[in-house]
Amino acid sequence: MNQRIWLSSPHLSGNEMKYIHDAFQKNWITSIGDNINGFEEDLKTYLGNNHQVIALNSCTSALHLALVMLGVNKDDEVICQSMTFSASANPIVYQGAKPIFIDSEPETWNICPIALEKAIKDRIEKGKTLKAIITVHLYGMPYKIDEVHAVADKYDIPIIEDAAEALGSSYKGLAAGTFGHFGTISFNGNKIITTSGGGALVCQTQEDKDKTVFLATQARDNAPHYQHSNIGYNYRMSNIVAGIGRGQIEVLNHRVKARRAMHEFYLEVFNEIEGVTVFTEPSSDFYSNHWLSAILIDEKITGKTREELRLAFLEDNIESRPLWKPMHLQPIFADFPYYGGNVAEELFEKGLCLPSGSNLTDVDRLRIKAVIDKTF
Ligand SMILES: *Cc1c(COP(=O)(O)O)cnc(C)c1O
Repeated sequence: MNQRIWLSSPHLSGNEMKYIHDAFQKNWITSIGDNINGFEEDLKTYLGNNHQVIALNSCTSALHLALVMLGVNKDDEVICQSMTFSASANPIVYQGAKPIFIDSEPETWNICPIALEKAIKDRIEKGKTLKAIITVHLYGMPYKIDEVHAVADKYDIPIIEDAAEALGSSYKGLAAGTFGHFGTISFNGNKIITTSGGGALVCQTQEDKDKTVFLATQARDNAPHYQHSNIGYNYRMSNIVAGIGRGQIEVLNHRVKARRAMHEFYLEVFNEIEGVTVFTEPSSDFYSNHWLSAILIDEKITGKTREELRLAFLEDNIESRPLWKPMHLQPIFADFPYYGGNVAEELFEKGLCLPSGSNLTDVDRLRIKAVIDKTF
């Protein structure tokens, strides 16, 4: 059997252990220490220095805390892009609030500003309280920031930007994760850089950062005994894990370059194949880290489905995967309101994510190309 080619696997720099050793040496192995401070500082610099960053144990935790910080409570409503991973929507339910799902637009595959405004108008008409909008940069592709934020600003609803997949992406030169009231980043094992598992919340003020750290570390009031006036969470990143992050962020720009090169590779491979389109930035305003390269297969033109290509890859021990199945089509979320048409649904039917890791070799690319050529 050929060696497995993964969709996206961890790619270490070799510098991670240096920081981990440092944490052990100083005996700072829990929720404070130089690695946490250093990693937050590195991220802050990477994001352009106008924001505060809080290192947490996952992006899901970051999304949850963003909702808590915005005061989302039982029976509130939170709008969420339907085409995403379930972790974007789950924290809404953790708070007892109700998710309202929105269709994608076909250019960036992200939240459609027109469907968004329709939904907001309708919810307001129905007398509902909309507390936040969760937007996503799918596979690293920035959403239509100007159009979406214009709608959110018009109705004065804060945006939580799920940039889990988009560290290294930007829109008009500004980093993904810095546009919303809050932004969230993931360092899960399959993301562009990893801390084995982890995440970060991006916020605008030191005050918000302090409050988030307080909530993330069990909300202990200032007293010699354990005193609590708030519900707390155990969501902080450990100083050991942050050491992995410090070793990873050193090579982030290389990882972005390599992922973008994979996207270029697929553009070239599919250039000749009619009926297959590679997911690409709609204009030079958008800069995707191309965390995952993805394609749409038009069955009418190619005579092939995405499932046929997926199985052909699998036969050669190559991993590929359908796009995120939209949340409004998920059994657990099927009863919640949905606004839009069938853009997300069609993307799900036609789309496939392809091996995109920054650690793929020329030999891997030859194997990938051979399967594609054989299939079409
Ligand atoms: C990976 C991912 C998350 C969850 O990140 P974790 O760090 O694993 O909690 C959330 N949203 C999106 C869009 C993701 O891809």
